[in-house]
Amino acid sequence: MLNLVLFGPPGAGKGTQSEKLIDYYQLVHISTGDLFRAHISSQTELGQRVSKLIADGELVPDSITIAMLEEEIDKNPEAKGFIFDGFPRTVAQAEALDRFLESKETAIAGVIALDVTEEELTARIAKRKAISNRADDDSEKLKKRIVEYFSKTIHVLPYYEQQGKLTKVNGIGEIEAIFEEIKGIVDGLPV
Ligand code: AMP
Repeated sequence: MLNLVLFGPPGAGKGTQSEKLIDYYQLVHISTGDLFRAHISSQTELGQRVSKLIADGELVPDSITIAMLEEEIDKNPEAKGFIFDGFPRTVAQAEALDRFLESKETAIAGVIALDVTEEELTARIAKRKAISNRADDDSEKLKKRIVEYFSKTIHVLPYYEQQGKLTKVNGIGEIEAIFEEIKGIVDGLPV
């Protein structure tokens, strides 16, 4: 199985690159942010529990996020592989994902981290705000999400670096050129 983690701060281009990777490698896309938003819009119990946290740009507790992710993996027993987008965001989530995949006799093949400066991120999200109606794209909430990224999520990188699975990619440039670089990395993964 080709299981990839696409890693990067809010606005780094994870969504855009995920779409291209899914198309090209025929992977199942799991975006925990998208799953949470779907729960919120269909007003499930889970959606009601997490909506304030998400609107405020805070991370949802690990136990809730991990359970939702595992359920989503289990819904796709025929998958050729998964692309995890926006997950893991904490070391506890990364450990839980490793254990869960191991129980299915598979593992993360590689982690692609999109590297983008904070200034570029703020500019991109301001643009996205103009076309998205995500409540968490306004400037205060965005700041909070970026703080969450640099205080909690960034610690996931050394976790994968120690496993020899991490590759950083410059996330500033043409979408196609970035995709070509990612493809080159993915094609070289031992799967
Ligand atoms: P995203 O679309 O990935 O930017 O996620 C939107 C929001 O959903 C985040 O700001 C968090 O509030 C929540 N969220 C998404 N994924 C996770 C995760 N792996 N752990 C905790 N919270 C998450």
